[in-house]
This record gives sequence, structure tokens and C-alpha cells, in this order.
Amino acid sequence: MTLTEPTTTPAATPAPTALVGGPALPQERRLVTAIPGPRSQELIARKSAAVAAGVGHTLPISVVAAGDGVVVDADGNSLIDLGSGIAVTGVGNSNPRVVAAVAAQLEAFTHTCFTIAPYEGYVAVAEKLNALTPGDHVKRSALFNSGAEAVENAIKIARNFTKKQAVVAFDHAYHGRTNLTMGLTAKNIPYKSGFGPFAPEIYRAPLSYPFRDGGLSGAEAAARAITQIEKQVGAENLAAIIIEPIQGEGGFIVPAQGFLPALAAWARDNDVVFIADEVQTGFARTGAWFASEHEGIVPDLVVTAKGIAGGLPLSAVTGRAEIMDSSMAGGLGGTYGGNPLATAAALATIEAYEEDGLVERAKQIGALLLGRLNALRTADPRIGDVRGRGAMVAIELVDPETGAPDAALTSKIAAYAHANGVILLTCGTYGNVIRFLPPLTISDELLVEGVGVVAEALRGAH
Ligand SMILES: *Cc1c(COP(=O)(O)O)cnc(C)c1O
Repeated sequence: MTLTEPTTTPAATPAPTALVGGPALPQERRLVTAIPGPRSQELIARKSAAVAAGVGHTLPISVVAAGDGVVVDADGNSLIDLGSGIAVTGVGNSNPRVVAAVAAQLEAFTHTCFTIAPYEGYVAVAEKLNALTPGDHVKRSALFNSGAEAVENAIKIARNFTKKQAVVAFDHAYHGRTNLTMGLTAKNIPYKSGFGPFAPEIYRAPLSYPFRDGGLSGAEAAARAITQIEKQVGAENLAAIIIEPIQGEGGFIVPAQGFLPALAAWARDNDVVFIADEVQTGFARTGAWFASEHEGIVPDLVVTAKGIAGGLPLSAVTGRAEIMDSSMAGGLGGTYGGNPLATAAALATIEAYEEDGLVERAKQIGALLLGRLNALRTADPRIGDVRGRGAMVAIELVDPETGAPDAALTSKIAAYAHANGVILLTCGTYGNVIRFLPPLTISDELLVEGVGVVAEALRGAH
């Protein structure tokens, strides 16, 4: 990296230069001020005065450009991006294919409301999703704006199709912050506390969490969950099971092998709609188009969002035609769902994953991260677990004596990384997981440098 003497005097702060992001940005970690620098501090002060306090921020910076492995702030600092805006910019910020497609669409038209006057982009995205999601059955898709909105629609569709009401979600689940999805989400603080009452007919089942469930096999963990569902809910009342094939916010928990297939098989045998929430895991992130593929499961409905459109807001529900077609016309939709700019971006984004070999690249990133992090773990027993698939990898930090979650150490590591120019995210029910979610277009050099900063942070933290 380039490290010039940090300074906080406004006079010495270089004016932001390139406002063009994408691959043109120098791929380097560069600190020219302390973080936050003066221009960033100014924005954060304005934010506090203008934006609701409930809308938090992880880094106190003012972003002016981003591309591939870096995010540049208004003070001229260039940070390594290990978060992708929470697994969104898999193809890189301002990916040239996305920029060109959205610019062309902007010139043509910006909105008709698809449910008033349809256009091709929406249909083409549905065709792509139907082809790419697991299973070769006949499928249909519907497009929405956010992950939470798509999750809500998947539940609506499943209830209407089965004429049943109950929904099962899992321990540590995260499905969003709207009313129904808050109810599905497991973690109280900060997502639920004070925001109730929550929607009825939501039940929670135990997950397979290999690091913390005493070595239960996938089959045993599935039997435990199924018994609880049968005893406490009953298949005759259950419309759907919703699960993240690898949990995101809950701590990048990869269930033991066999857990997901056993649940899916039980759902199929009991007329329960099996919904995979692939909002965080979808679109090449885990080294497959969808994480369900790692164990060959074929969900009835797949929910996608985050990585789908290179940063533009778009989400989808894709699934079996008989389920998806069971809602009456007008029952699904919204003003903006499948907006023309977002669908143009999604088509270009999917093309980028395909043409630029990004599924393969996610696997390479996974091998690199797992290799380096496992080496760190060997030398440092505070790293209790290293897990993940592809470019979705995490370390869980614990007290080496007791195995108790160490959230304080986790916060220290993150704070060190942020101060040293690395965007690093934490997660987990116990706040003790550091997650690595880089853009798939990041270079090996930046990735290695980013992990090096985490190693440095660990060495310095007691
Ligand atoms: C982020 C996320 C959501 C919610 O998506 P939003 O676009 O933030 O509403 C739902 N499910 C999972 C697994 C997520 O990671």
C-alpha cells in the first residue's frame, strides 16, 4: 500500500479527484488522512443532523467512487473492499457492462410500471432466473425491489398455494426488517426490539450449527428440527419452511452435510413449500450460481436479491410454475418491482458472471481465504472456527479456554481494519464473527493484503 503521513488538517487534504469508479480506479490501499478524514467527518456530521439515528453506518466515511477491490472516500483514501456492500457488488462497483446497459436504458425509458405496460427486460430477467436456479422443472419468476419484499412475497405465494398458514424459520435466521420478515429474523437487537407486534404463525426450529451443536450430524440435526416442527406446528398447518442454505447475518453458518437435503425431502413428502432464501448466497457468491447446488437440493421457491443487479435494487421469487401461477392476477407486484433500469443492470450483471468466469473466481477466492485463515487459526486459538464456501467465508472468535463468543475482540479487529483502510464486516447472533465477502473482481493482491491487516489486528489485540 501507499502510506503517506496521516493528516487531519483540511488544507492538506487533496480534493477528490477521479469521480469515475469501476475498474479504472487504482487497485490499491492508500491512506492519505486518518479515517475519517475531514471531508468524511463533515458528511457524518450532516448525516447525524439529517438522517434518522436508526439508519447506522459501519464506517464513518463519505464515498465518492468505487470499483473492483476498492472504495475511495472524499479525502482521497482508498479502502480495500471486503464487504461488497453486503454481497451486492459481486461483479464490482460500476461494472462497465452494467454502466453501459443502464445508461442505454436511461436514454430509452425509465419506468412504465410493468403491471401497467410490460417491457422485455423484465421478461428476460425472469427467463434467466428460471434457467439458472436449481432444478429443470417448469418455473416462473416475479420481480420486486428488496430482499425483504421478495421474502414476503414468497411466503404470500406459499400460503395461498397450500391454503395453510404456518411458516417455519430457523435459529440465527435473517430474512429482513419489514414486519413479516422481522418476525422471521431471529436476532432481537438491533432488528426487532421494540418494533413488534410481529406477524402471527411464525415458528422457529433449531439449525445445524456444526461449531456449536456438539457435533450433531446433518441427519441428526434435521431429525431434531423435524421432530420439533411436527410436535409444535404440524405439517397439516405448515405452508412453508424458509431457510438460508448458508446463513448470512446469523454468522455464515454452513449446516452439516445432509441437513438441507433431509429438510427438503421432509417438506416434499408433507406438502410444505421449501423456500431457499438465497438473497446473500445467490449469484456466484459461494462458488456456484446458488448455494443450494452444493448439496443438490432443488427448492420449490428461491428468493434472490443482493448480487442480482450489480448494485441496483432488484429482487425476485423464482419457483415451480404451479406454485407461482396460483396467485390471481394483480395479487403480486408493486409500482417499481422489476424497474427497467434494474432489469437492464441484472441482465448485464448475469452476463458478467457468465462471461467473466466469476463462479470459478469465487471458488479461487474461497481457496485463498480458507487457506490463509486456517493458517492463522493454527497459530491463534482465539479463532475457533473458519468456515464458508467460495467468496463467503468467516472466522468465529472465541475465548480459547471456554469457547465462549468473543464479541469484544471481534469489534477490536473490525475497528483496527477500518482505521487501516479495510472495509470489514462482522455478523453472528453473538457478534463474534468476521465475514469476508469481497467483490469477485478483487485482485489476489488486495485480498491477501486485506487478510494481512486482519492478521495484524489479531496480533495487536489482547
Ligand atoms: C439481506 C438479506 C435479506 C433482506 O434483503 P434486503 O434487500 O435488505 O431487504 C433477506 N435475506 C437474506 C438472507 C439477506 O442476507
